[in-house]
Amino acid sequence: MRRTVIAGNWKMFKTVDESVELVTALKPLTSNLKPNVDVIVCPPFTSLAIVANLLKGSNVKLGAQNMSEQDEGAYTGEVSWKMLKSAGCEYVILGHSERRQYFGETNELINLKAKKALANGLRPIICVGEKLDEREKGVTEQIISTQIKGVLGGISSDDLKKVIIAYEPVWAIGTGKTASPLQAEEVHQHIRKLVAQLYSWNVAEGLVIQYGGSVKPDNAAELLAQDDIDGALVGGACLKADSFASIISASPSR
Ligand code: PEP
Repeated sequence: MRRTVIAGNWKMFKTVDESVELVTALKPLTSNLKPNVDVIVCPPFTSLAIVANLLKGSNVKLGAQNMSEQDEGAYTGEVSWKMLKSAGCEYVILGHSERRQYFGETNELINLKAKKALANGLRPIICVGEKLDEREKGVTEQIISTQIKGVLGGISSDDLKKVIIAYEPVWAIGTGKTASPLQAEEVHQHIRKLVAQLYSWNVAEGLVIQYGGSVKPDNAAELLAQDDIDGALVGGACLKADSFASIISASPSR
């Protein structure tokens, strides 16, 4: 059975002191997780090392929000896989829609980053999702297929076992609009079927597919109850320990 993975994307919020405060409040609220549930926090780069230290001995794992596709070099402002690992990260979010929209990230670049992460022992959480006009035009599945094929190109079945896909409809991120559980489940099923075609049913059955887009304590249970929704990537609601903890406890025991 697939695990349920709840990840919090802190985006460009929280200074070092605020990060310490948030994670200190979160730790006791996550001391008794259901056995099938994993929790990840993804603070900004500047807080990774201190959060890693605070998380030692806890049930919460650490991820970053982005990573360079290069190993090292004269790339001002970039952060490498080696830096993330030395700061204590196990996961890295790649291809978030904000990276695609504001920083021009393409499926090709996200694919290079994913391969670099996998080759170096970091587990990528790769984001895909359609924009509002694409949903309205009825091309959601086409867009998702192109993104999935693009970001997974050249990734082996063995490596795919370490990948998490986050389906995040762009129109639902930070807008308060959530995909209905049925709308989300349809796209998750589509992704799983596509991965079965590209790899095998066995691999597709094991793939964790998170939903993201205005997940809140009051809609989490219904979304997470869907058969193909294996977790959540949470933005706004992870910035307060109690609301993130409520989402975590809304995970079904499978
Ligand atoms: C996100 O940042 O990935 C996200 C889903 O944000 P929000 O929960 O605020 O919509």
